[in-house]
Amino acid sequence: MNPLAPAALAHACFMPTYAGARAHFLAAAAAAGAPTDILVHEQARGPDGSTLSTDVAVLGPRDAERALLVVSGTHGPEGFTGSAAQIALLYRLAVQPPPAGLRIVLVHAINPWGFAHLSRTTENNVDLNRNFIDWEAPPPDNPLYPSLHAALTAQEWSPEALDAAEARLQAWIRVQGHATFVDVLARGQYTHPHGVHYGGAGREWSNRTLETLLQRHLAGVRRIGLIDWHTGLGERGQPFFLCFNEPGDAGWERACRWWGRDRIETRAGFDGSARPRYQGLLFQGVQRYAPAAEVTGAVIEFGTLASAETRRALQADSYLKTHPGLPQDQARALRALLLEAFSPPDPDWKRSVLGHALRIQEQAIQGVEAWPA
Ligand SMILES: [Zn+2]
Repeated sequence: MNPLAPAALAHACFMPTYAGARAHFLAAAAAAGAPTDILVHEQARGPDGSTLSTDVAVLGPRDAERALLVVSGTHGPEGFTGSAAQIALLYRLAVQPPPAGLRIVLVHAINPWGFAHLSRTTENNVDLNRNFIDWEAPPPDNPLYPSLHAALTAQEWSPEALDAAEARLQAWIRVQGHATFVDVLARGQYTHPHGVHYGGAGREWSNRTLETLLQRHLAGVRRIGLIDWHTGLGERGQPFFLCFNEPGDAGWERACRWWGRDRIETRAGFDGSARPRYQGLLFQGVQRYAPAAEVTGAVIEFGTLASAETRRALQADSYLKTHPGLPQDQARALRALLLEAFSPPDPDWKRSVLGHALRIQEQAIQGVEAWPA
């Protein structure tokens, strides 16, 4: 077991920058004896001009039939939490190797630009978790998004303008209903490149990188347990599961066994609305790029702020991108807002989420190990 107490472990595993998280991940992988694969992003750089990469640590035999795949950083700064969970898992695996016959693949910072620049999107303002659609077909439409676009993206950053946008948004919700609102956001949109939840105009670098690393490290695997770590949804400091297997099918039932039916079948997290119709998820990318494998898994979120505050943080993210050259103080304040929503500096929050994350990863390892061949 890990010798560190929860608070000390959280303090040790949460890094304040992408570069720090990356270095710690690589060091923890070395300590666990896990070979690493570094996929350098050739088209993007960090805020200081430094190199960006998605880094992969791999444990267990190459010919394993079962694997656990853990991904961090799909949504940029949400990656601080996923990274901490991966680092803590590597520490544990350094003293207690994984079960024989199980492969563990840890993907650090699948969206390294967003992680390094503290933006939920990729370098092209793309929500990576809407980018894994079938690009052979026309992108899905989202006919109601244009009527929400102005209220979701701030044109001006002042209390008056933000309050006016919020009032427009609430008026829209009164007419269309909350469930429709949640659904419009979840579907993503492929028409407004400066908007929120923009799914892109083609496959992002991170999307192609996921395919490359699955081919390199999970070819031949027949059963994949997937954890895609996120933050921002659910009760503060608590895990919130979004299982993307079909409700009731074998994968869904398996996720219920691994993590508890009450967690998988909860209706919390969307302010009472049903789970919306997500499109273009990383989960779907894993299914597409590992076609021989059965995939069971979930996006696992940790709650931070109330949804209105998280929405304000998304507006800040968008505003920072559409208003380059903001005064440094203002840019810093907007980034602090983003971090409160997606990587709170609160030590109690970190301790809580890391404890849950370790347990959830442990349950997944046991679950994948017990998965019949
Ligand atoms: Zn997320």
